Amino acid sequence: MAATPNSFNSLMEITKRPPIIFVEGQGSWLKDASGKQYLDFVQGWAVNCLGHSPKVIVEAISKQAARLINCSPAYYNETMIRLADLLVKHSCLNRVFFANSGAEANEGAVKLARKWGQKHKNGAYEIITMDHAFHGRTLAMMSASGKAEWKPLYEPKVPGFPKAVLNDLSSVRAAVQEKTVGVMLEPIQGEAGVFVATDEFMKGLRDLTREKGILLILDEIQTGIGRTGKLFGYEHYGVEPDIMTLAKGLGGGVPLAALVAKERVCCFEVGDQGGTFNGNSLMMAVGIAVLGELTKPGFLEKTAKAGVYLQSRLEELSRQWGGGEVRGKGLLWALDLSKETGPQIVDECLNRGLLINAPRKNTLRFMPALTVTPEEIDRMIGILREVFQVIR
Ligand code: PLP
Repeated sequence: MAATPNSFNSLMEITKRPPIIFVEGQGSWLKDASGKQYLDFVQGWAVNCLGHSPKVIVEAISKQAARLINCSPAYYNETMIRLADLLVKHSCLNRVFFANSGAEANEGAVKLARKWGQKHKNGAYEIITMDHAFHGRTLAMMSASGKAEWKPLYEPKVPGFPKAVLNDLSSVRAAVQEKTVGVMLEPIQGEAGVFVATDEFMKGLRDLTREKGILLILDEIQTGIGRTGKLFGYEHYGVEPDIMTLAKGLGGGVPLAALVAKERVCCFEVGDQGGTFNGNSLMMAVGIAVLGELTKPGFLEKTAKAGVYLQSRLEELSRQWGGGEVRGKGLLWALDLSKETGPQIVDECLNRGLLINAPRKNTLRFMPALTVTPEEIDRMIGILREVFQVIR
């Protein structure tokens, strides 16, 4: 049966959705039930790194589905081992635990750090996180996040996440105590409005965490897997984290996440961590296909080049229309507006067939597929320019 607006009533209302039903997607384009096409600069919230329904993922899913879908995490499976090997080969880390969402990978990171604290740091368990951070929606990750609007929700929260300020090293130093086991942050705070950790801050954090004998945990759920023009965000800084989490791009649109850590930190014992779907063959095959594409010669260079082009077009637009700062890296960008017109601009772009997002009322965010073309960037800028003539 075709979906009709009446079907909306069967869903819990967890976000304000426009009354559009998407039915198909290809590359940078989505199609709704009426046949209208949309240029997609949201891409499943920076998830579809290869765009909608890319051939490599379609093939990986259909081949693997016919071969083996899930043999239970109680056993090794072939694709699980191959994907873990690939992540280890391409990162500075040594061991992987697979999960199904970013929040779950982050929960795993916190559990690993707390276990490590129990074994090596006198039971230290606190993890310093940043104001405005976003680490997911489980109860513990809502505590780890620094979203002011979440403070009154679902009380009481999970304790153990004191806050510091991004790019203010002295605020982190002041928060370190006996019971601190680590510091966790996003190299770019995406949901907060694309705020980039500075080189000085990240290097300073690495030095501080070494000096205090605590862990540096990078939430690379949004910045990992090519989003910043390098495979992992930490590569821009010349620092190595002790623990890193990945999700979003790793699955290219399907639920797949990973917790990756240095050997010396890997202290889970049998029974400490798990999950029925974790490491299932089907999702692993997708991760292998995604990494296969991203590590092909020239892929990330092309992404980085597209990012420089997107940046220059956004800066030009901002200059012409009295906009504000343009921030980001690779293919994750924000454009500040002079007024709180973000939500109206997003709605008007949607009417004109463009999907973008406003993480804050005065900020627009752009997170296209890593395969976005200069022509698609021009098309997006063209629509935005039209909209700026009506709303600024
Ligand atoms: N961490 C960061 C940096 C994110 O951007 C997100 C999602 O937007 C998450 C964690 C949560 O990931 P998920 O929605 O897959 O649980």
